[in-house]
Amino acid sequence: MVTILEGRTLATQIKNKIKKEVIQLKENGVVPTICVIQVGEDPASTIYLRKKKEFAQSVGIKEISLRFSQEITQQELIDKIKELNADAAINAIMVQLPLPQQIDEQAIFETIAPQKDVDGFHPYNQGKLWQGDSQIMPATVRGILSLIDSYELDLVGKNTLIIGRSVIVGKPLASQLLARDATVTIAHSKTQDLSAITKKADIIVSDVGQANLITSKMLKQGVVLLDVGINRVNGRVVGDVAFEDCKVKASAITPVPGGIGPLTVASLMEQVVILTRIQKDDR
Ligand code: NDP
Repeated sequence: MVTILEGRTLATQIKNKIKKEVIQLKENGVVPTICVIQVGEDPASTIYLRKKKEFAQSVGIKEISLRFSQEITQQELIDKIKELNADAAINAIMVQLPLPQQIDEQAIFETIAPQKDVDGFHPYNQGKLWQGDSQIMPATVRGILSLIDSYELDLVGKNTLIIGRSVIVGKPLASQLLARDATVTIAHSKTQDLSAITKKADIIVSDVGQANLITSKMLKQGVVLLDVGINRVNGRVVGDVAFEDCKVKASAITPVPGGIGPLTVASLMEQVVILTRIQKDDR
């Protein structure tokens, strides 16, 4: 029997935990605050940001939205972030991706103060992840780990394949699965014969953005499938894994939607609370 790994239920549990923690912080005179920056008006980004705002409001986190025009220069954006870095009332800073071409994402990641880096993209925080300090990490990675913990999925010594090597998911996730004693392989667009690797995997995390990338003939019986991909096909949202086809072979599988997606937003807000606590303790 395949287990459907329900992200929505777990996201609600995380939400309730955050609510309690926010109340505690407020009792101590601290209002956890995230500042979210959007550049331009990408419709998908606007939808994601609305979800984040609603979640923040529902748990009592203060959310400040700043929207800049598509034409903003890199220096103007950097100056704005530096102001926010220096503002003690802001605990977390998030810049919604993608950014327009004139702005180098890496330069922006490096400008956000590491202790306010709610997305965990700063090289300092990414480096710390590889060194075993996992306080701050990209929200999707935290969400995947929460799901693994919640369903008590066994990682120790398992052949674990991550497809995708972004700094948002693939690379930082590799550090965390390795820290939990999985045997980790990372595949990417230049990987040859993906199918030969997927067939050996006990656990597969797919973070590519290509519908039907993974089909049942590429899998071994009993595999665990964690699907991060979000793709729009004929007006429907689907993942990278051909769900109906693969669920027959899998022992556990995330649905899309309703798997990793809701956990990403919940984990982002969890991280606002974590950053707020770290800053409070440092004072
Ligand atoms: P990126 O484009 O940064 O990364 C995609 C990765 O997939 C790259 O490493 C790329 O390889 C690799 N890739 C591309 N084609 C293939 C292929 N045929 N075989 C193997 N690997 C391949 O994307 P993101 O990480 O930002 O996002 C990926 C997907 O995940 C998207 O659908 C996005 O919407 C979704 N997503 C979902 C989240 C959620 O909360 N559920 C959160 C974040 C993302 P290379 O490095 O060689 O180019």
